[in-house]
Amino acid sequence: MSTRTRGEASGTGTIPGVDEIADRHWRMLIGGELTDAASGATLDVVNPADTSTIARFPQGDAADVDAAVDAARAAAPGWAAMSITDRARVLGDFADAIEANGEELAWIDTMDYGSPVTMMRNDVRIAVGQLRYFAGLALQLRGETIPMADRNAMDFTLRDPFGVVGRIVPFNHPLMFAAARIAAPLLAGNSVVLKPAEATSLSALRLGELAAAVVPDGVLNVVTGLGGVAGDRLVTHPDVPRIAFTGSDVVGRGIQARAASAAVKKVTLELGGKNPLIVFADADLDEAADSAVRGMNFTWQGQSCGSTSRLLVHRSVYDRVVGEVGRRMDRIRMGDPRLPDTEMGPLASANQYRKVTGYIRAGLADPALELITGGKIPDGPGFFVPPTLFSAPSGATGPLFSEEIFGPVLVAAPFDSYDEAIAQANALPYGLTAAVWTTSLRTAMAAARDLRTGYLWVNSSAAHLPGTAFGGVKNSGVGREEGIEELLEYTQPKNVYLRF
Ligand code: NAD
Repeated sequence: MSTRTRGEASGTGTIPGVDEIADRHWRMLIGGELTDAASGATLDVVNPADTSTIARFPQGDAADVDAAVDAARAAAPGWAAMSITDRARVLGDFADAIEANGEELAWIDTMDYGSPVTMMRNDVRIAVGQLRYFAGLALQLRGETIPMADRNAMDFTLRDPFGVVGRIVPFNHPLMFAAARIAAPLLAGNSVVLKPAEATSLSALRLGELAAAVVPDGVLNVVTGLGGVAGDRLVTHPDVPRIAFTGSDVVGRGIQARAASAAVKKVTLELGGKNPLIVFADADLDEAADSAVRGMNFTWQGQSCGSTSRLLVHRSVYDRVVGEVGRRMDRIRMGDPRLPDTEMGPLASANQYRKVTGYIRAGLADPALELITGGKIPDGPGFFVPPTLFSAPSGATGPLFSEEIFGPVLVAAPFDSYDEAIAQANALPYGLTAAVWTTSLRTAMAAARDLRTGYLWVNSSAAHLPGTAFGGVKNSGVGREEGIEELLEYTQPKNVYLRF
């Protein structure tokens, strides 16, 4: 693995690096002001490619969250009173500001999160696209008219905002989630307090700086800090009636309980998955193997919620497909995420590294599992873990098949019949995404009917298409995002019965 430092990348001129990030004074955005934590406390930013500490940022706590909620509460009525087309214009300006600073944002995420800069540029594009998509939905935020028996009366619905939305996002895709997931609540007329993950907060702080110039004061606030402290205060704050959470199922379930302990709140949850990719014997096997690799999102080190991390293959083609997938995984270039030809970087944090390498050690020790590729953790520095494939020829059992690893670890097992494949796929308490590879329309349609999942690909994987609703069933979540459903989730219908 290369360890070239700042300015040494060939063909790209000087590349941004540690100094630009370390030299900055990173501050939160509260009520239009860039500010340190009231306590003065900070958290370290660790570069996952070499584990060095490269910056510090505010460790906000309950006092900072309270200040942000007060600011958001004060700003909410004025923001809601603006016409929706004016709010859409602000979102458009925000998208333009992110796009204009996209290169810097991509580099910040690369240094803080570890994914190749080529991938983080893509995340910036997706975020800008989502902001513009929601801005374009402005005139679709409509109520209904309900026919009345009394012809001198009519009944209709209005869609009111909640007021202050607490928006908590995970460590993966830091800029993308922070930017894209505030579009819908803002367009609907809510003000927002955004809490990014402590492992990857920098791009959200930069987003706050950009927002300070284009979003009215208090309408968007960014508070960084520990989940169990700043996040918990946001969840339990009595003036935050709407919580939108993206993260792990364990924390998500806790958030439902904590929110309920404070007040009746609307809580939507986008949680984890252990998503199956099923290859039937009639599939185009080469394309299915490509898709199994793409579905793992190795370019983000497998740290994507929709990753299809359980590969279920019909026994008659099992050895061939698993072999092809392993060969493709072998070819992935892992290395310095700043370099243009790197396809996969380090995991995001020491926590992730401990967790993922723990699963790999458990897999290597399990006699039921055969290592097809990967498994060897390079000597440091950096949280590098290679693409790893385990095969379970005698069946899908054990923690590697039932728990979300959220790293570059794929597990494969054979099945003998359609019913067995569906039963295996549905066996877990998760249901975020699934993929099916088959050339049979009948099998595809039956799987679409039978799989308990929120999002299904047939003869594809990984892709998110703008406007399609993303979200989970079972412990993978409640609520849908990325389409008009997300916008509607940030409103409350008010029924009006009007006699004239
Ligand atoms: P996490 O649950 O540990 O943390 C997510 C966020 O919640 C962070 O901002 C964290 O600071 C905050 N938090 C932690 N404890 C909290 C508490 N007690 N109260 C309030 N907030 C708290 O998740 P993570 O490790 O950052 O992210 C990975 C997980 O997110 C994976 O399970 C992944 O599948 C999931 N995810 C889901 C989606 C989706 O759309 N369904 C998208 C991305 C990630």
